[in-house]
Amino acid sequence: MSGSGGRSTGRGGAGYAANSYRTNALVLRTYKLGEADRIIVLLTPGHGQIRAVAKGVRRTTSKFGATLEPFMLSRLQLVRGRNLDIITQAESVTPYGQWIAQDYDAYSAASAMVETAERLTVSDIGEVGERGEPPRPDGRVEAPSQYRLLHGALAALARGAHAPRLLLHSYLLRSLATAGWAASFTTCSKCGAPGPHRSVNVTLGGSVCDDCRPPGSATPAPATVELLAALQSGRWEVADAAPDQARREAAGIVSGYLQFHLERHLKSLSVMDQSP
Ligand SMILES: [Zn+2]
Repeated sequence: MSGSGGRSTGRGGAGYAANSYRTNALVLRTYKLGEADRIIVLLTPGHGQIRAVAKGVRRTTSKFGATLEPFMLSRLQLVRGRNLDIITQAESVTPYGQWIAQDYDAYSAASAMVETAERLTVSDIGEVGERGEPPRPDGRVEAPSQYRLLHGALAALARGAHAPRLLLHSYLLRSLATAGWAASFTTCSKCGAPGPHRSVNVTLGGSVCDDCRPPGSATPAPATVELLAALQSGRWEVADAAPDQARREAAGIVSGYLQFHLERHLKSLSVMDQSP
């Protein structure tokens, strides 16, 4: 960029400072770039999703250390670029990634969470922000609620607050609700009749009463519907006590609901579905 005749040429340090900003960020994922660099996909409270380059991060001598690994919460300094921002400084705030990586189930759940967060906060799927505001001119969708949800879920995974799969399914239902796709597992999704109802139809948005129930709707166990409602509202005393069969059934319904809304099946979820 420097010296190639761009608009900022000649302003030197002033242009650099004007384009520099600091933010906390959760690392969603990373891609290799060239010999030693990586593209880091980040979720931030005030700037939404960011894709930034970390130069030299794959060298063992890198100053970034592990601060830019998935699930880490770090404090970053960045410089705005034309396509990708550049990370100039990074310090660890909370090393969730280190704790989560020690437990396979927690790691799998966290992988599915960040993949969902990435897709729900990217501007071409979000199109509008959480409160219906249009995308910002630079194409970023601000997503403070998605950031808070993901932060809370990764923190709970890291400290082993609940079973990883329950935390994942609760996170998925709540992040979809935050994106504008709230499921209902108490009232009928179509007519609003108070429940609980026997049938669930993911394309209609959750529970359906006997009058609204289309053919082909699922009829999970009552404990499954109760678990789904608890996961959505964060009633953990109910969720933690749910039997295995309800957890398995709930996993299938959440996965179906997510798939319906995201269209493409999440790789991480298909891995989760195969374990009991
Ligand atoms: Zn109904």
